[in-house]
Amino acid sequence: MNDPFQNAMLQLARATDVKRFDSELLSRLAQPDRQIRVAIPVRMDDGTLKIFEGYRVQYNNTRGPYKGGIRYHLDTDINEVKALAFWMALKCAVVDMPMGGGKGGITVDPKTLSKKELEKLSRGWVRMVAGDIGPLVDVPAPDVNTTPEIMAWMADEYTKITGDKVNATFTGKPVEKGGSEGRGPATGLGGFYVFDALARKMNLPQSCRVAIQGFGNVGGNAAEIFSGNGHTVIAVSDRAAAIVKEDGIDVLALHEYKKKNRTVVGFPGSRTITNEDLLTLSCDLLIPSALENQITEHNAHDIQAKVIMELANGPTTPAADDILFARGIPVIPDILANAGGVTVSTFEWQQNLKGEHWSQADVFAKLKTIMHKEAMIVFTKATLLKTDLRRAAFIVALERIDKASKHK
Ligand code: NAD
Repeated sequence: MNDPFQNAMLQLARATDVKRFDSELLSRLAQPDRQIRVAIPVRMDDGTLKIFEGYRVQYNNTRGPYKGGIRYHLDTDINEVKALAFWMALKCAVVDMPMGGGKGGITVDPKTLSKKELEKLSRGWVRMVAGDIGPLVDVPAPDVNTTPEIMAWMADEYTKITGDKVNATFTGKPVEKGGSEGRGPATGLGGFYVFDALARKMNLPQSCRVAIQGFGNVGGNAAEIFSGNGHTVIAVSDRAAAIVKEDGIDVLALHEYKKKNRTVVGFPGSRTITNEDLLTLSCDLLIPSALENQITEHNAHDIQAKVIMELANGPTTPAADDILFARGIPVIPDILANAGGVTVSTFEWQQNLKGEHWSQADVFAKLKTIMHKEAMIVFTKATLLKTDLRRAAFIVALERIDKASKHK
């Protein structure tokens, strides 16, 4: 079993082997500033009381308020949230957002709850942590299984408790409730801009064959954006299984199919394979967009993609990184590739604080400029230090956190 937090710390150690950093900085980053564990009581529809375990980890706020999503998943625990919070601190620094790193979660399979129960649970999480978050303290957002609607319930609960009128404590809200234009597709689109900046450097064809694990917010949007920009999406998956269609999936039709059938499996013209098989398909670009620890020492030897771009957090283990590096398969790391989400979340926070509303065109233009620029900075750093993109992205982030800590 791969422990995500141990993997995260191993990644940190490997980056700091390439470039030395201040020992005080490293000892601060070896653990989170605060870990909050809460028990959330929910009166279920059948009248029974159920207690759910929830978390908020505030990892580091050297560069700004703690920032990071809230995950609802049965496998979510404090260790996973700790790893995700650490990655957020680095991710905000890689794209130079004025934010620190945090993350939250609840151990739950939301698919087993009614809508009323889901709302009670979400509001319950806010009641437990309301005193610990706030627009200048800690700004949560969506992650796996949390939606704009859930963010709206949470923002509403926070306002009820605190009387807050700024509406900048939660991002990823629906646009009509103070959300930013473009937040929905932001992670997939940001990944596309990173790919766009790096594709020629990596000798990728102009039209790539793309396989995507996961078809939720991130994977579903990435599939639409890549296929809308001249690439061929040959495979996608959800938690049930994966589908493959060698001549290309009609992604818009697949979205419609999934809405009706709640899975991608069975899409007309496709054949079903396993999630494991999707990862080892022959393709140009593999985009893991589901969960951690998908590419490990057990399957890294069998990967046939020319490049991997991590839109999920932590999908590749350090042992797999070594194998892929030796095989000459570059990995565009999560803390760069999926940072479009936190970038537009930060735009939302800035709009809420200033009482502004930016157009979608404006949001996308700002996002593109940032993702292109930071992707090139990471690529140049990797070339200069003769290292891989993950170590380079870590080093860029650590340099920025270090600089901010010296100004405090
Ligand atoms: P989501 O809940 O919208 O979608 C998750 C997708 O993964 C679903 O299609 C689900 O069926 C699938 N899935 C679940 N378990 C799986 C398994 N074992 N094998 C294959 N597929 C599986 O979540 P999301 O927001 O799209 O997040 C996906 C990943 O992207 C996560 O790692 C998340 O931390 C990361 N991420 C999300 C954002 C964001 O803005 N939402 C930003 C940055 C990173």
